[in-house]
Amino acid sequence: MALKDVKGIGARSLLLLNKLGITSVDDLVTHYPFRYDILKRGSLLETEDGEHIIIDGRVESSPILVRFKAGLNKMNFRLLTATGPVGVSIFNRAFLKSHLAVGTAITVIGKFDKKKNVITASEIKLEPLSNKVKIEPVYHLTSGITNKNMATFINMALLGNSGEIHDFIPTYYQEKYSFSSKRMALNIVHNPPSKEKLKEASIRLKYEELFAFMFKINYLKEENKKKNAGLEKKVPKDKIEEFINTLPFELTEDQKKSVQDILHDMEGRGRMNRLLQGDVGSGKTIVSFIAMYANKLAGYQSALMAPTEILATQHYQGLLSFFSKFDVKVSLLTGSTTKKEKDKIYKDLKDGVIDIVVGTHALIQEDVMYHNLGLVITDEQHRFGVNQRANLQNKGQKPDTLYMSATPIPRTYALTIYGDMDVSTIKTRPKGRKKIKTILKKETEIKDVLTLMYEELKQNHQIYVIAPLIEESENSDLTTVNELKDKMNLAFGKKFKINLVHGKMASLQKDLIMKEFSENKVQILISTTVIEVGVDVPNATMMVIFDAERFGLSTLHQLRGRVGRSDLQSSCVLISNDDTKRLHIMEETNDGFEISEEDFKLRGHGDLFGTKQSGDMTFKIADLRVDYKILLQAKKDSEEYLLRQEDESLKQELIKSIIHS
Ligand code: ADP
Ligand code: MG
Repeated sequence: MALKDVKGIGARSLLLLNKLGITSVDDLVTHYPFRYDILKRGSLLETEDGEHIIIDGRVESSPILVRFKAGLNKMNFRLLTATGPVGVSIFNRAFLKSHLAVGTAITVIGKFDKKKNVITASEIKLEPLSNKVKIEPVYHLTSGITNKNMATFINMALLGNSGEIHDFIPTYYQEKYSFSSKRMALNIVHNPPSKEKLKEASIRLKYEELFAFMFKINYLKEENKKKNAGLEKKVPKDKIEEFINTLPFELTEDQKKSVQDILHDMEGRGRMNRLLQGDVGSGKTIVSFIAMYANKLAGYQSALMAPTEILATQHYQGLLSFFSKFDVKVSLLTGSTTKKEKDKIYKDLKDGVIDIVVGTHALIQEDVMYHNLGLVITDEQHRFGVNQRANLQNKGQKPDTLYMSATPIPRTYALTIYGDMDVSTIKTRPKGRKKIKTILKKETEIKDVLTLMYEELKQNHQIYVIAPLIEESENSDLTTVNELKDKMNLAFGKKFKINLVHGKMASLQKDLIMKEFSENKVQILISTTVIEVGVDVPNATMMVIFDAERFGLSTLHQLRGRVGRSDLQSSCVLISNDDTKRLHIMEETNDGFEISEEDFKLRGHGDLFGTKQSGDMTFKIADLRVDYKILLQAKKDSEEYLLRQEDESLKQELIKSIIHS
């Protein structure tokens, strides 16, 4: 059945539904409520301010109708209930006016504003309601479609549509878990008779959604392994050892394990598709250097992509110094590389003269050709779009790929977004690193903060100050940052140098200031979140973050990771007037994984990376913050099902749906 054939959906509604992304009956019946309002039949006395209420009464005053533009209207009248009179207002029900003569017995459903003694009604029932509790689905809407319209469309679709609802749960699991039919479950989530039934039905639908998703991921992973025969590189282990022995420190156990994982992938038949994750400062970079050296020894070129020029430059300098005694040719390619230099680099890449190229987005531009690209590494990979990633991968024949991420990813999220990748994790921090002391302060305690800052400065240490700038487009925010600079100058300007970097600056200017900071020519660096990624200034031992509540925990953790990069004791001061429980988590733990789990619970995956990432993963009903157990079960079952000779037509349907999505 087509959407337009659903009873009640006309041409206009069809367009509006399309606007909501609903183009089929399947879409419509899985347009799940984003929340439920629990309506209790109550009295004015028992109902709290802002609560929903179902209440009986008699119309006490003739409804007064107010009309607005665009055909909108509002009606107000008084209702006499068992516990006294109350105002009622309702939008867009002008047609009810003639039914609401004074004295008529009605039931009003709506939200109670106790202070104003007004109910903003969502529904008015002209015949008495029998049930005591009503669970009301609330849908995402677009103007022109009311919640009630939506509910009606969905129910009409469920009624009119027999046997055409796709169900992705194989019979075996359907029976194993005694799941109800999909139709029944859908009917329940859109018309819940009770909380218990609602929960049961949601679990079934969540399981189905996660099962189908995990099946696809497992299928793709298997296919990838089959198709993508890798390069089967030959890596001379003794040469790698030799290099590792020249490092000024000993690798941590996790670093060693990660190196092993990577070398194993390189030598293996399949193509490497690995995520290297670890907290900021855990030492991922050196692992990637070793990987690139191994790749060079095997006879291939490597490309290392960084999200910013500062970071690319830092990697480049790191490579030069670590490989100063080895025969490795490294080049840097960024937006500010001159045309002449660029052409030379392009040529050398094509001729195979360059072993390792480090760069920003410029790296992935069309005209860069490689002689034999064998390894692609992206640092802080979430900052690159999926397409950019894919683009670079296609440069080589079948280059191994390694993604580095300093954003510790919650278990659930890792399973889904990175489900098709292998993962190496660095948990142990390099030896000698002390826990960063984190302190919460209120704005009124700024004097204490300045004193703490002075203590650090006296010891010739440096400080980052993060200014409250979220939307870098707003000029008013910029004023705030400049004011902050003035304040800092007033306090410390006589003895110390203070500078400012923000997102609106030209990158050359930004780099210059960053360079001065890294050379300790600037002692206090005020910044927006532009320093969030990567920069390594071990002498910076303190970070002060204003308006800390405006940042997600993971972002705060990223920022904090800029300090504590040597054996000096470092600290982080979070200034906020909100005494949120959220920020206390920062005081309690330095473990990025723990923090990311908390952040995930509180804010959802969209905010994990500081920016909303859409399209990577959207579930209609499953919520990864709470549905971890269901996900694990669905994962296990889908893996098993992939190997099972059963429900083959359903399997084909699932596989087909991958191609379409
Ligand atoms: P990440 O990239 O994971 O944020 P880095 O690779 O930048 O972390 O490492 C942070 C600092 O620690 C660098 O200065 C690096 O040279 C140093 N480092 C890396 N591994 C070790 C180790 N095993 N022992 C001591 N210092 C290390
Ligand atoms: Mg890094």
